[in-house]
Amino acid sequence: MEKRLTVALVAHDAMKHDLAEWVAWNWEKLLSHRLVCTGTTGRIVAETLMARRGKDAANARFDITMLKSGPLGGDQQLGAMIANNEIDMLIFFWDPMSAQPHDVDVKALLRLATLYNVPTAINRSSADFMISSDLMTHADYKPVVRDYTSYIERSVK
Ligand code: PGA
Repeated sequence: MEKRLTVALVAHDAMKHDLAEWVAWNWEKLLSHRLVCTGTTGRIVAETLMARRGKDAANARFDITMLKSGPLGGDQQLGAMIANNEIDMLIFFWDPMSAQPHDVDVKALLRLATLYNVPTAINRSSADFMISSDLMTHADYKPVVRDYTSYIERSVK
């Protein structure tokens, strides 16, 4: 049986069109996973999936959770899910050409994804590589998370 993952999807406004195209291209693969999105991205992902599944609607259900919009706390909610080991993969098309009002949240999200070794795609080509990797649904593959016990138990004077 295919391994079901929790896949987080986020795109800044200038990149939402790219993400919608990517979702439209990969919609069948995405249907077998649980999706978690920041608010506005989630609306676009849901619309795209509904349009693509079309007449197969009865057989093609999708499972999508929408958090708050990114600048309103959605990135932080996603970061908390990563810290709780609830996210298996992050697709985050961030905009390299515009300043974001929630830049600190964006940085925090990317930091936690790195800290917890969550496979992260930051553009369409890396997302293509990730979704087509055999490791994505390989039963035995689990990203190794560094043991932070010595940090947690460090002595603080
Ligand atoms: P949005 O948030 O999906 O609500 O637009 C994306 C983001 O983190 O900026």
